Amino acid sequence: MKTVYYVIPCYNEQEALPDTVRQLLEKLRQQILAGLAAPSSRLLFVDDGSKDGTWALIRETCLAEPLCCGLKLAHNRGHQNALLAGLMTALDKGADCTISIDADLQDDPDATDAFLQKYAEGYDIVYGVRNSRRTDSFFKRFTARCFYRFMRLLGAEVVYDHADFRLMSRRALQALEQYREVNLFLRGIIPTIGLRSTSVLYDRRARTAGRTKYPLRRMLSFAADGVTSFSVRPLKLISNLGLLISVLSVFGLLYALISFWAGAAVPGWTAIVCSIWLLGGIQLLCLGVVGQYIGKIFSEVKARPRYLIEEYIE
Ligand code: UDP
Ligand code: MG
Repeated sequence: MKTVYYVIPCYNEQEALPDTVRQLLEKLRQQILAGLAAPSSRLLFVDDGSKDGTWALIRETCLAEPLCCGLKLAHNRGHQNALLAGLMTALDKGADCTISIDADLQDDPDATDAFLQKYAEGYDIVYGVRNSRRTDSFFKRFTARCFYRFMRLLGAEVVYDHADFRLMSRRALQALEQYREVNLFLRGIIPTIGLRSTSVLYDRRARTAGRTKYPLRRMLSFAADGVTSFSVRPLKLISNLGLLISVLSVFGLLYALISFWAGAAVPGWTAIVCSIWLLGGIQLLCLGVVGQYIGKIFSEVKARPRYLIEEYIE
């Protein structure tokens, strides 16, 4: 049987945590009884430098419950880093697979049965995908939609309506371990791992206790992080814009010269207009070229693995 580690990042979650622990423990016990998970499975709570009583609560739970374990980060490093810390610890402890789930249980713990079934069928990554966004405000729905569209447009492979509720096999975790980048955007990285993957639909609920840790400001910076750590396309767009303006400026130039010869131009206007257009275009173009090199440096510095071997047959 397979050792399953649930990885639960928690940041100031003291209101939500007691109920989460209860529900997840019940789920895990059921899965152990049903033979879906080994008795060595664990709930791994990651305290992301909380300022409230979250860690005290986790400690207490771990002392009382052999199925629970806890990891405390020294600082608040954000959801993605907390999650990675948990996943890598689970890998270290010998997990066969991990399921990451938020501490507010907005993601349905019952969907994990389907995750484990898919895993047993041989899938390495199982994405939890939201059935609908009914529980979200119109604003969140709209911004989320724009975000996924925009990411796709910029060439990052993201799974639509999938947050960080997913199962990863040991093999997928080992692949993830090879990604050494500091600006972590798991939703973008994990699809680049490849391997056999599938998705499971579930209904996302509203948060039951505590407040969201992702207000608009953090959401925007998260989205910007996603774009800039995945795509150098914005740099290419600058080059293209520069090229376009340079070409257009040739027409502008002709227009200005014709006006000048026709005597319709105020003295001095032609020279100013021509130089503004042409120089503006050339500057953008040069900026874009510099950007292209920066883009190369960016991907080199990330030093991501160039390939990941899925299988080797002798
Ligand atoms: N979280 C974290 N570190 C942070 C912010 C959030 O570990 O700096 C955790 C949080 O405790 C929760 C998960 O990340 O388990 C998702 O956060 P939240 O539910 O507030 O985000 P939302 O669902 O509103 O997007
Ligand atoms: Mg939430």
